[in-house]
Amino acid sequence: MKIGVLAVQGAAREHLVAFGRLGVAAVPVLRPADLAGLDGIVLPGGESTAQWRLLSRAGLGEPLRAALLEGLPAFGTCAGLILLAREITNWPERYFGVLDVAVERNATGRQVDSFEARVRVDGLGEVPAVFIRAPAIRRVGPGVEVLGTHAGEPVLVRQGSLLGATFHPELTEDLRVHELFLGMCRKG
Ligand code: GLN
Repeated sequence: MKIGVLAVQGAAREHLVAFGRLGVAAVPVLRPADLAGLDGIVLPGGESTAQWRLLSRAGLGEPLRAALLEGLPAFGTCAGLILLAREITNWPERYFGVLDVAVERNATGRQVDSFEARVRVDGLGEVPAVFIRAPAIRRVGPGVEVLGTHAGEPVLVRQGSLLGATFHPELTEDLRVHELFLGMCRKG
């Protein structure tokens, strides 16, 4: 099993460390050739606008979109979820647009409004989660399952091979959400 972590900007290293702790090979993705042979890819948190600019410049936009449409399992956390989302309610662009949710960018406010909370995840119980200028999921399409909630709002969603979280699971010691994603990669 080999997992790629998009590494053009943001919290890539923390995801690479998380998979290392789980005993899974994980490689940074910086150019199209890095997509070869992956069983799954993580789109980390960071700044979605900067990530999009940098991944486009690296020539990753089209090959990564094609891989996502072909069913490469992908886990978008925070900015990564914004890159996957079909609609961004408060932003004129959309990026890959493959996950049928509408997100609102920066819904939890500024960097200083970051917080840690426990989210409820189906089958896992309570999982610690860090929210940093997190998006909110404002609409969930009919093919999208809500797997996790916080304060009654969806924070972890799945649509087939795509998993999206508004929070950062890689900034806690609890790796069960990463394991959940690895389960999706094994089946795929
Ligand atoms: N606010 C960032 C964005 O819009 C996301 C923040 C994060 O990934 N922690 O891209």
